Amino acid sequence: MKDTFNRKIDYLRISVTDRCNLKCIYCRPSKGPDYYKPSELMTAEEIRRIVQITVKHGLRKVRITGGEPLVRKDIVSIIESLKDSGVKDLSITTNGTLLGREIKNLMDAGLGRINISLDTMSPVKYSEMTNGGNIEAVRDSIRQSEEAGLSPIKINMVPIRGINDDEILAFAQLTMEKDYHIRFIEFMPANCSGLWTKDKCVTGEEILKTISAIGDLDLLEFKGQGPSRNYRIKGAKGIIGIISPVSDHFCNFCNRMRLTSTGSLRPCLFSKDEIDIKTPMRNGASDDEIEALFLMAVRIKPEGHELNHSAASRSSIDTMSKIGG
Ligand code: SAM
Repeated sequence: MKDTFNRKIDYLRISVTDRCNLKCIYCRPSKGPDYYKPSELMTAEEIRRIVQITVKHGLRKVRITGGEPLVRKDIVSIIESLKDSGVKDLSITTNGTLLGREIKNLMDAGLGRINISLDTMSPVKYSEMTNGGNIEAVRDSIRQSEEAGLSPIKINMVPIRGINDDEILAFAQLTMEKDYHIRFIEFMPANCSGLWTKDKCVTGEEILKTISAIGDLDLLEFKGQGPSRNYRIKGAKGIIGIISPVSDHFCNFCNRMRLTSTGSLRPCLFSKDEIDIKTPMRNGASDDEIEALFLMAVRIKPEGHELNHSAASRSSIDTMSKIGG
């Protein structure tokens, strides 16, 4: 499946809920929380149907996100229902606080990989950044994921200047001992109570410069799969990923579509264009009609986002939790 700009689209990120048990400073809406009613969210069966239809067009990779996907009571059923859909790579992004008790069930259901968001190693700062979260639960989930054989464990870290950017080195250092993928994500202008300003965003280049204090970095072969530029510090077991949507247009390599928690297809994280797919489904649309809507969403995928254009520099992601990051 190729879009108008000849990019291969084979990755769907699905937000299964806008609810979250944490309120991270860079993600929470300034108003609210004003969550959607359960009836407004996609059901497991609706999600499975969309995935099955799009697999026919080359969809290979599905990531479940949110909100916090683990707050959905039927999260194991959602994963299970996708197991035999033809998707080759089924993963989840989670804050890790509710994961421990479900890892085994999720793996049995077909989960292949996991990304855990962790922005600090300090219990006090973690609680401050997440509005009361308990870092021990996340550490425990990472331990249990490793013991269960989920590999590689990817850790997402969003450095924010003056808040947690002093921990970039410590996170990178983890890759010397562990086969982790530490993914540094530039702080994006989400609707986060006015916290975002461009100077708080630590750029990918700055991150790399900081990390080079540990040792030389080898750029790993780029397989054209998504926006992460991957490096290995000489002698390290793990990998460093740099995701730099703010400082560096990575749109040429964008291979993804997004399905929001309320069932709209969103071709670009930073564009407000969405195509409602849930309402037609609930009104009895056929598979062919759903397929046509999906292909239309692929067709209108923009060439790039406008975060770096001065006129549009104030554009922001209004509802990160609904879209799923
Ligand atoms: N609750 C899950 C979690 O914490 O991973 C999944 C949803 S969260 C929206 C998905 C990812 O988006 C997380 O890795 C988070 O760090 C990232 N994210 C959220 N707001 C962001 C922002 N303003 N800038 C950069 N990344 C952000």
